[in-house]
Amino acid sequence: MCLSRLISVMTESRLSILIYHRVLDRFDYLRPDEPVREDFLWHMSLLSRYMNPLSLPEALLRLSEDRLPGRAVCVTFDDGYADNLHCALPVLERCNIPATIFVATDFVDGENMWNDRIVETLRYLRSDSLDLRSLGLSVYLTATKEQRYNCSMTLLSEIKYKPLKEREHLVSSIESLAQHKRETLMLSESNLRTLHARGVNIGAHTQSHPILSELSPEDSYHEIAGSKQWLETSLQCPVEHFAYPNGRLHDDYTDKQVKQVKQIGFKSALTTEYGAVVKNSDLFQLPRFTPWGNSRLLFLLRLLKSRYVLGLKKRRFP
Ligand SMILES: [Zn+2]
Repeated sequence: MCLSRLISVMTESRLSILIYHRVLDRFDYLRPDEPVREDFLWHMSLLSRYMNPLSLPEALLRLSEDRLPGRAVCVTFDDGYADNLHCALPVLERCNIPATIFVATDFVDGENMWNDRIVETLRYLRSDSLDLRSLGLSVYLTATKEQRYNCSMTLLSEIKYKPLKEREHLVSSIESLAQHKRETLMLSESNLRTLHARGVNIGAHTQSHPILSELSPEDSYHEIAGSKQWLETSLQCPVEHFAYPNGRLHDDYTDKQVKQVKQIGFKSALTTEYGAVVKNSDLFQLPRFTPWGNSRLLFLLRLLKSRYVLGLKKRRFP
């Protein structure tokens, strides 16, 4: 199939915002869905060849002025992983693609995120099973790589929506079961400044990456405003874009957070809801697309498909 012909069916006024988290330097059986450097290179090469990559601020400005070019696309990363600098940035620079990284500021020069602490524990666990019945969980098989991966996915989904204190207790308890050197996976402040100095747009992603919908209005405001303030102080520049942690409407954020993000002075807020952005999209609930697929054709077909879904346009709060 001729890719150029396929691409030509794209509409001229839609913006796809791609969401990544990490770019690994080698395949990790515990994170099989994260692209490695070589995957990311062909992703970006395809965007460079067939799409029109723009920075998020420029894309949103052009959208508001009806000047969005055809096949417009933005690349974003969530959380603030160190590999964004070491693995992703060289590829982005080689392909001349701008990007935005949304940073959860408590993890800068800090501890790993709770989900990574679980995953890394499973990597170093020395037993063939994990008995967590004393924590109100189950017994999990951990003899093979596949079992360890399945165990990590099950634990992450079982723990994700627990109240913050309970989640921290569970993670610390599980972490104590495997002795290992805890290497940070996150950006340092110096890394962050390097990314910024090399032209990467930095956005806010709260301080501690909580489920915002579960917080009191005061705590939610503090998390959102605090991350903006921290980044602006560190980078000495305005931080104008925000991404909701986890990013699903109702489960992870509600109209309360949408109001707060506007009130705090952001120009846009991004979700993880599926779809593409059009001129009348809600700027404070912009949908994104998670790229996946092992082949170039599948990657492009899925990207094309996502451009015909308008995300949250017709959804209403209860
Ligand atoms: Zn996140």
